[in-house]
Amino acid sequence: SREEKIQLLKDNIGAIQDFPIKGILFRDIFTIFLEPKILQACIDIMIDTVKECSKDIGGIVGLDARGFLFGPSIALALKVPFIPVRKAGKLPGETIKESYDLEYGSNTVEIQKNSIKPGQRLLIVDDLLATGGTLKAACNLIEKVGGITDSCLVLIELTALKGRENVPSKVVSLIKYD
Ligand code: AMP
Repeated sequence: SREEKIQLLKDNIGAIQDFPIKGILFRDIFTIFLEPKILQACIDIMIDTVKECSKDIGGIVGLDARGFLFGPSIALALKVPFIPVRKAGKLPGETIKESYDLEYGSNTVEIQKNSIKPGQRLLIVDDLLATGGTLKAACNLIEKVGGITDSCLVLIELTALKGRENVPSKVVSLIKYD
């Protein structure tokens, strides 16, 4: 069942204390990828969730870097394009940028101008929602290039950070930690 698959994933996500800096409990999703059956369950649940929760999706936007692990599989299942949002300086051609503040310093993400058609309905996918800064920046980028964010899908939500309140879109998460 869906609940059993989600529990299987939850049981197989690594947790590393004080990485990359002291005070952070890092959720390591690559442990899922070590076991094909678990990876299959993960991808299956993500695709089922998108089919249930979202209608008329015209493209999947994946966030650099771990959103790239899930996005293309979802895009293939829906038979729609996959579009990357990357950290600044990685994408060739004309791009649009969006910067956002981190606890220390800032981050810039970008998208290729010609990757989205006006009015295209998009689903954004990433591995984890923390403060919501990254998803918010991706929503802003999509708006700037004339797309519409239908919703965001993350495997993991750190609920105590209330990141979903910062995201100007519906957010669906499969696994929640305090
Ligand atoms: P945020 O913009 O604060 O929502 O952070 C989301 C991004 O940071 C995601 O792309 C995650 O990959 C990464 N991230 C933030 N916190 C963690 C954590 N505790 N464990 C693993 N990845 C994290």
